[in-house]
Amino acid sequence: MRTEVIKQECSCMNEEELKRAGAVIRNGGLVAFPTETVYGLGGDALNPESSKKIYAAKGRPSDNPLIVHICCMEDLEPLVSEIPEAAVKLAEAFWPGPLTMVLPKSQLVPKETTGGLDTVAVRMPSHEVAKAFIREAGGYVAAPSANLSGRPSPTQARYVLEDMDGRIEMIIDGGDIPIGLESTIVDLTQEEPMILRPGYITAAMLEEVLGKVDTDPTILDGTCKERPKAPGMRYRHYAPKGSMLIVEGASKAVISEINRRLAADKEAGLRTGVLATRENVDAFGADVVKCMGSREKEEEIATSLYRCLREMDDENVERIYSESFSTNGIGQAIMNRLLKAAGHEILILEEDA
Ligand code: AMP
Ligand code: MG
Repeated sequence: MRTEVIKQECSCMNEEELKRAGAVIRNGGLVAFPTETVYGLGGDALNPESSKKIYAAKGRPSDNPLIVHICCMEDLEPLVSEIPEAAVKLAEAFWPGPLTMVLPKSQLVPKETTGGLDTVAVRMPSHEVAKAFIREAGGYVAAPSANLSGRPSPTQARYVLEDMDGRIEMIIDGGDIPIGLESTIVDLTQEEPMILRPGYITAAMLEEVLGKVDTDPTILDGTCKERPKAPGMRYRHYAPKGSMLIVEGASKAVISEINRRLAADKEAGLRTGVLATRENVDAFGADVVKCMGSREKEEEIATSLYRCLREMDDENVERIYSESFSTNGIGQAIMNRLLKAAGHEILILEEDA
């Protein structure tokens, strides 16, 4: 299959091209498209054959459900058997935007789309190209991140092409992605709302609207005995090709520990890399040092994290070290993704060490 790449800018969209992209979805094909979180790999959410194609293109296990993307509030009702009050409040506060809600599904949604579950995850993205494309596609676009299963989610169209060339009909190149981490997922099917995946919309933001919100305990704890409630969180994910270790502690101690390890790795002939904050970017003696952004602005870190992981692969880095972040606010989502990329390998340095 030939994969066509078309360009779309939020400021001047080409309607004819978007209609063509929408027609690909209506005809059962797949189109990758930009959203504010990461690039999505879209298919018709109401067509079981399209969902099967998504799993095949990504190499994704078919028990890992897809998020259904909509472009207006009226399109929610047909997807679900019930709209709880909490969903209405959250939609008012955060839609369109980087929040996914898990709700009881209606008959309209095929089990292929929900990985066999009776619930459906729904999101209304705010990206102008995404909204226009979803409308042209018929209103219901199932879309996981547009990477091969296990690879970091793409935040640039060139990484979508790298993973999906020859596997899907079309890629809409909408340029760089503003947020860079997948949506926050909140489950509204239980008594208490629960965050299944942290994201740009933080626990504190949700609690401001809903009161108490639980968080799946497996999100940051690799040793937790419970199974994550979002099936996708059970798989190793977001992994660069090199092995990775996160080092946590006081800045000076982290720098000297990483540098000590880098020296040993170099001795062993390994190509090394560090994911650094802007504050420390000049302190590391690695072959490749990537600046993720300022520790003072964690949104910057979120936006560049996946790109930096991909760049480590581009530069054939075999051993990666990363600085660590607090688990407050958006830091929780950053640490969740970093821990997954590192296979939960983290070294915590004692205060006085
Ligand atoms: P991705 O599409 O790559 O952003 O992954 C979608 C995430 O949403 C995966 O972790 C899924 O397991 C999760 N998800 C989708 N639908 C549901 C659902 N009905 N219940 C729980 N988690 C879901
Ligand atoms: Mg994904």
